[in-house]
Formats: sequence, structure tokens, C-alpha cells
Amino acid sequence: MAAGSPLELRPLGNTGLKLSSIGFGASPLGRVFGPVSEEEAIASVCEAFRLGINFFDTSPYYGATLSEKMLGKGLKALGVARDQYIVSTKCGRYQEGFDFSAERVTKSIDESLERLHLDYVDILLCHDIEFGSLDQIVNETIPALLKLKEAGKTRFIGITGLPLGIFTYVLDRVPPGTIDVILSYCHYSINDSTLEGLLPYLKSKGLGVISASPLSMGLLTESGPPEWHPALPELKVACQSASAYCKEKGKNISKLAIQFSLSNKDISTILVGMNSVTQVEQNVAAAAELETVGKDEKLLAEIEKILEPVKNQTWPSGIQQL
Ligand code: NAD
Repeated sequence: MAAGSPLELRPLGNTGLKLSSIGFGASPLGRVFGPVSEEEAIASVCEAFRLGINFFDTSPYYGATLSEKMLGKGLKALGVARDQYIVSTKCGRYQEGFDFSAERVTKSIDESLERLHLDYVDILLCHDIEFGSLDQIVNETIPALLKLKEAGKTRFIGITGLPLGIFTYVLDRVPPGTIDVILSYCHYSINDSTLEGLLPYLKSKGLGVISASPLSMGLLTESGPPEWHPALPELKVACQSASAYCKEKGKNISKLAIQFSLSNKDISTILVGMNSVTQVEQNVAAAAELETVGKDEKLLAEIEKILEPVKNQTWPSGIQQL
């Protein structure tokens, strides 16, 4: 546990890094989920760090580079030594489209570092690789990222995406230890926990596992998901019913969802998108409560029952190639 913080520190595979069990997802700072002022964005980053969150994730894609710029301002405002926090950003996905070429990702990291006001990132991830050719990722993008690692621009490298099959496809085709980290999203939350089946494989390869979107990108919140959310209407309706049920009982679905996702300790960190000081405080409090009193098992069973007809339902992502 970080000194004075309710958040546990968990090892990230074989990297030697220790990440707070809740990580700060900075996509909302790119106004992906609605408006956020610069002041609130900076204050959210500072409050997160104060409460023991040491891991911050962004991408040039989020808000067409706005997220990286906002996070950069927030990290600068912390005024602490660089080794006190861990930053990941991504490459290959941009506002203008996908480009996983060696040339583009090599240029991309320099642009990201400038926006973040950093000399290096801790983790550089190929963003949503199912939209590119997986063979290009193996043969061109990963070798380019390894060069960036050698050049000291990133300490570790990884891959992200939605379909779980992309991870095994790539990991089975590169030498052991080449890829340090995977970032999976929307696959370890109350409505979809399919990442669980992949954890033994990832563990056997010494991979660090980042599980993003424990609130299923807004499905498991009282206010509901943003317009662009790709879930089928059936899944949206079921999550809305689950949220309304919690509200009726005076409970909060987001708290339950955070506690559910935190409970699996084979996951190094859960990345929650946060855009206000209040959300940061609520989510850290949810983790603290999990440590002291545990989660509300009765409510969880009721919510799982409501969500059972849509359990593990996902949506298509990327080009079909597996
Ligand atoms: P999420 O499930 O974390 O949900 C975020 C939404 O929930 C936002 O609208 C946020 O404001 C809201 N929220 C947060 N705390 C809340 C609370 N206590 N009460 C009510 N609402 C609350 O989804 P996400 O932001 O998409 O995922 C988290 C992070 O993971 C992202 O910011 C990003 O950094 C990363 N991510 C990466 C990928 C990828 O690499 N392909 C995909 C998805 C997410």
C-alpha cells in the first residue's frame, strides 16, 4: 500500500513497476465524455496523485491530443520528481486514422513527449491494434517500439485493443519478454468478465495486465454512457435497469463496479476514466471501503442477475483477421 493511501500497489508483470490498484484514465480530459475545464482537469490529476494514484494513461487519439496536453499540465502541476509517477501513452491511433508504420510511431512518441512535457514515458502502447494488420504489428511496429525503448523514450512497451484474441495472436509470434504489458478494456467489469479466461496465459508469460473501463465506458454509471458508446441497445438497456435498481436502493452502481473490478488481484491495475475531483475521491473511497468492509455481495448478486441475459456481450471492433 502507498504510504497514507488506501490504494494497494501491485506489480506490473515482470517490469518491476508497482502501480496503484486504481489508475487514472485520462481520456475524459480530452473531453471524450463531455466538457471538462482545464482547472478541473489539473485539479483531478493533483487530487488523484495526492490520494495515492501513481499511474496515468493517455493517448494522442483522446480528444485529438487534448488529453495528452491536459495530462501534461496536470503532471507539471504536481511538482514532484519524475520517478514518483508512471505514465503510459499510445501510438498508431490518431484523430486522422490508424497508422502503425515504424515511421509514424517513431515520430509519434516525440510528439507525445512534447505534449506531456516529459523526457520519457514509462509505457508506450500500440493503440487498438485490431484496426491494423496484426502481422504488421508483429513485424514492423513492435520492432520500432523496441528501438524506442533502447533510445530511452519509453521504459516498457505493450499493445491494446478490444478482442481478446489479438493478444494471443501477437504474443505467440514474438520472443518471450518482447512485450511487457497488455491493456484490455471493457472485459473485466460486472457485465463482462471474459478477460479472466486469459489471465493464466498472460501470467505464464510474465505480462503486466492493465484492465481499463471498469465502468464499461459509462454503462455502469448513474448518468449512463455517452452517445458514441458502441454497445447494442439491449446491453445499454440492461445496464440502465441495473443502475436504476441500485439508485432505488440508495446505492451507487459505479462504486460496486469499481469494487468488483478491483477484487481480482491478478490484474495489476484498473484504469478508470475520471474528469473531476469528486470522481477521483469517490473511486478511491470505493477502494478504501473494499479493503475495510468488503463489497456488498448481496447487491452484487442482484445486479449480476439483472445483467445475466447480456453477460459477456460485446461489440465488433476492428477489421476481421483472426
Ligand atoms: P470507464 O469505464 O473508466 O468510464 C469512464 C466514465 O465514467 C467517464 O464518463 C467518467 O467521467 C465516469 N466516472 C468515473 N468515475 C465515476 C464515478 N465515481 N461515478 C460516476 N461516473 C464516473 O471508461 P474509460 O474512461 O473509457 O476507460 C478508462 C481509461 O482506460 C481511459 O480513460 C483510457 O485511459 C483507458 N482506455 C484505453 C483503451 C484502449 O487502449 N483501447 C480503451 C478504453 C479505455
